[in-house]
Amino acid sequence: MIFDILTLFPGMFAGPFDESIIKRGKDKQLIDIALHNIRDWATDHHQTADDAPYGGGAGMLMKAGPLAACIEEVRSRRPFSTVVMTSPQGRRLTHKVAAELAERDGLIIICGRYEGIDERIRQLFVEDDISIGDYVLSGGEIAAMAIVDTVTRLVPGVLGSDESAGSDSFCDGLLEYPQYTRPPEFRGVKVPDALLSGNHELIRKWRRRESLRKTRRLRPDLLEGMPLSREDLALLAEIRQEEDISGI
Ligand code: SAH
Repeated sequence: MIFDILTLFPGMFAGPFDESIIKRGKDKQLIDIALHNIRDWATDHHQTADDAPYGGGAGMLMKAGPLAACIEEVRSRRPFSTVVMTSPQGRRLTHKVAAELAERDGLIIICGRYEGIDERIRQLFVEDDISIGDYVLSGGEIAAMAIVDTVTRLVPGVLGSDESAGSDSFCDGLLEYPQYTRPPEFRGVKVPDALLSGNHELIRKWRRRESLRKTRRLRPDLLEGMPLSREDLALLAEIRQEEDISGI
């Protein structure tokens, strides 16, 4: 997977891309990240990349010219890549969308700044618009980092087998069950007995029940329309009964 990031602020990526899982993905040559400074494609003396919007209004817009030249050059080197625009107006980045993006051979990610980008860039080049949530960031760089991070985790081989993404939240439609590590008791709070039992079936069932409980409490929307197994329905009935008894 090759990520090309088109930005006016390449310096922002130094820390996050040089640590931990992304660094490992790069070291193992499972991913590659190339940063491109859009300003390098500006042709005038001042290397202008922004201008005032037609029709007036506050702020500046990124000009189409330098960005178009940058996209065209990067795309000629990576004809297999998909051009993605970071935008609060895009489709929301979810696990499902990340898994879909991880299937592509490469992503060319455009980071906007100021009030955004001349609309003709979208019309002429953009194949996918991605938003990381219903709020406005000052620029697309943090959104690009989120996309690269979550997609990288899903590229086969990046995570070790002992840290596979399979049980993470959203992977099977549910939130992950609660996790504990040593000591068995901390400030009077004990690790649930099932997890200390060494009984794999008991542990599996406890985790499934607690996954369902957490999702039901924190993100009931995820359960709506989700296909539930006979066991899931029985576990949910148990949870409801427990809550009735304890008066929650
Ligand atoms: N005026 C625009 C917002 C521009 S914010 C509007 O109202 O839609 C400047 C840049 O930050 C955007 O071009 C985009 O690249 C990035 N950005 C802001 N919020 C974002 C979000 N929620 N998800 C992804 N990118 C975002």
